Amino acid sequence: MNDYDQIKVHLTSKSKEKPPFDKLQFGRNFTDHMFVMDYKEGLGWHDARIIPYQPLQLDPSAMVFHYGQSVFEGLKAYLNTDGDVLLFRPSENMKRLNRSNNRLCIPQIDEEFAVEALKRLIQIDHEWVPNGEGTSLYIRPFIISTEPFLGVAPSKAYQFYIIMSPVGAYYKEGINPVKIAVQSEFVRAVKGGTGNAKTGGNYAASLKAQESAEGLGYSQVLWLDGNEHKYIEEVGSMNVFFKIDGEIVTPELNGSILEGITRNSVIKLIKHWNLPLTERKVSIDEIFEAHKQGKLEEAFGTGTAAVISPIGEFFWQDEKIVLNDHKTGKIAKQLYETLTGIQKGTVPDPFGWSIPAYNTSKKATAVN
Ligand SMILES: *Cc1c(COP(=O)(O)O)cnc(C)c1O
Repeated sequence: MNDYDQIKVHLTSKSKEKPPFDKLQFGRNFTDHMFVMDYKEGLGWHDARIIPYQPLQLDPSAMVFHYGQSVFEGLKAYLNTDGDVLLFRPSENMKRLNRSNNRLCIPQIDEEFAVEALKRLIQIDHEWVPNGEGTSLYIRPFIISTEPFLGVAPSKAYQFYIIMSPVGAYYKEGINPVKIAVQSEFVRAVKGGTGNAKTGGNYAASLKAQESAEGLGYSQVLWLDGNEHKYIEEVGSMNVFFKIDGEIVTPELNGSILEGITRNSVIKLIKHWNLPLTERKVSIDEIFEAHKQGKLEEAFGTGTAAVISPIGEFFWQDEKIVLNDHKTGKIAKQLYETLTGIQKGTVPDPFGWSIPAYNTSKKATAVN
């Protein structure tokens, strides 16, 4: 079933109190409604509905609790100056959700239908899109295996949910460089594993390293490849870029790196600006060597939550390097301003990335 008009809507009788939009934390508050759709073998995806946000009722033997068959996405909606709601490249998230589904043996969803369902949910909860500087509505689509069964096999039942959370600026004092510890003991992913799928298990496996980085006074981990512990993969939950001697480089996709939509957007913008960019293997030795030679000009992470996160310091094998005197680099700043401007509709959008999700002017007809 993929008819957008067939989504059943059951509105809440009592709206929740909204948190003050100038004091939002990340991921703590959720809107009034959520989208749900069921899957059953033989029946396919069915019973698409928007219902009041509420706890789930699942059997304790639901397979997701035991075998971790789950995938998720993360994207944001923004309010533009006319009070309309914009989504940033939502089709890319639904495409990636299907790539993750494929890796985790979860049935494919109808990507177009999922985007339409999301727009419908936003129409209903549009008052939850915050309007302060740096704020947005964070959107979390996810799928879990629900069949009550103990046994290792793909589940025969699933549920697809979309929940939404108004969030504040990721960094309270604007973009400020973060400190990163290079992880040489634990790895996030290996070739042939699930590194390029957005699945909860990858995060469960990353917590130990994150904890050790924090213990050293660093906010995030830089992951090296799982075979040689030599080549750079990602930072925390972001992709990573470097500017070395005038050239921008980022690790090439190798099957264990998560293919970020922000990464893809950054690559397209840099090429659009006619700046030199290469996707290739980047070793941690090369980065420390470039720094010694005074050629490491910038480093930054890219991801939906922070958009662009400049890196001010790396720590690896008892050695610490400081970049740009802990100040945000020029490319990082230009990318941040351009991307957030496109997302909020305040700067030209040459690639048509920002999609209207809800028009204030259509208020009278949009919601039934
Ligand atoms: C989601 C994610 C990213 C960033 O992807 P975006 O689409 O840019 O938000 C990077 N690395 C990991 C491990 C992720 O889970």
